Amino acid sequence: MKNWDVIIIGAGAIGLSLALRLRDEHRAVLVVEKHEPAGEASQAAGGMIANCDPHTPALLQPLADASAALYPEFVREVESESGESADLREVGTIAVFADGEAPSHAGVCQLNPADLSRLEPSLRLDRAAWFLPERCVDPRGLGKALTKACKKRAVDFATGSEVLEVLTAAGRAIGVRTSHATYHAGAIVNCAGAWAAKIEPLPIPTRPVKGQMVCVVPQSLSGGPHIPGSGICGKELIRHVVRTPRIYIIPRSDGRILLGATVEDAGFDKRTDPRKIKRLYQAGLDIAPVLSNTRIHDAWAGLRPGSPDNLPILGETSIPGYFAATGHYRDGIMLAPATASAMAELITGQQPSLDLAPFSPSRFA
Ligand SMILES: Cc1cc2nc3c(=O)[nH]c(=O)nc-3n(C[C@H](O)[C@H](O)[C@H](O)COP(=O)(O)OP(=O)(O)OC[C@H]3O[C@@H](n4cnc5c(N)ncnc54)[C@H](O)[C@@H]3O)c2cc1C
Repeated sequence: MKNWDVIIIGAGAIGLSLALRLRDEHRAVLVVEKHEPAGEASQAAGGMIANCDPHTPALLQPLADASAALYPEFVREVESESGESADLREVGTIAVFADGEAPSHAGVCQLNPADLSRLEPSLRLDRAAWFLPERCVDPRGLGKALTKACKKRAVDFATGSEVLEVLTAAGRAIGVRTSHATYHAGAIVNCAGAWAAKIEPLPIPTRPVKGQMVCVVPQSLSGGPHIPGSGICGKELIRHVVRTPRIYIIPRSDGRILLGATVEDAGFDKRTDPRKIKRLYQAGLDIAPVLSNTRIHDAWAGLRPGSPDNLPILGETSIPGYFAATGHYRDGIMLAPATASAMAELITGQQPSLDLAPFSPSRFA
């Protein structure tokens, strides 16, 4: 019977990133995934690396900044190992905030109307805009790249396998039981996202927070739209990520544009609602009338892993050898690289280079 050093439950952005960091430490890793890798929240996400947002909780800011700083190297590594593109864009974000809110992060600046129309000529914003030096990534490309990079680095996968229970002996975690097999390892990590609480015997308290999103594409993809006087060239209708209290817009390099997202308490329901999708599209049109040159290409919903205080849950649980790395709520794509590095350090007995104390699973005990 094969034994692994670490079993990771869940092959989302968090589980896959952690598997790579554990391979750096020469650990034998098995990822157990109930469906296919990178098929849940991590493929539904917009991919903003929004570490300059004033809504980031103060306790999360150091992890967010550390993760944002790791991103270029993280993407370079997984792209070169996999041959897949994660479409990391460095263009920045244009944002407006509610009354009384303003970003204070290094590198942010307020835009005057001339700057705004030079940067993004097609926007119609009704209040002062800010430039935020943020990046964004395509989570679907990233998911494919992470999966391939893990396979290339000899991470084992058991897909189509739902973990029902973490097995213990003498009070320590020793493995997992799925509906048709058991697997053994010295350490188990729950990276099961919105489903983490379903795994016995110690539910990790995440809950699903539904998000619906719509993807639009330019009407004419051959050569891109020609919109005289708009400053738009080729297929790029909008260059920056745009964020307002009502809507965000995320352009991809291939011309797709994402509009998101709803935040709903709807259990494990992943259906889209055509009225909500239409409302997102209309909210996009209101601030970027140039989007009337697009058509709806796709719409989907995903389940963010919320936690009771909406901070991640990172660390060893009350069962020795059983760890949690989940609850990343709206920021799991951004937080994947730093979560993976810090958790790999913790699991391999090193002092994590980031303070994980605010995220300890014991805060819910
Ligand atoms: C609409 C939307 C927009 C978002 N936009 C952004 C954004 O712009 N930036 C950002 O940083 N974040 C964003 N997020 C949040 C981000 O998607 C999540 O925080 C992140 O994907 C969580 O990753 P994860 O690996 O923890 O979870 P998931 O990607 O959900 O992965 C969990 C995996 O565990 C598997 N699993 C569950 N239970 C079991 C079990 N019992 N046994 C085996 N496998 C199991 C699941 O099948 C799944 O593959 C967004 C989310 C949504 C829904």
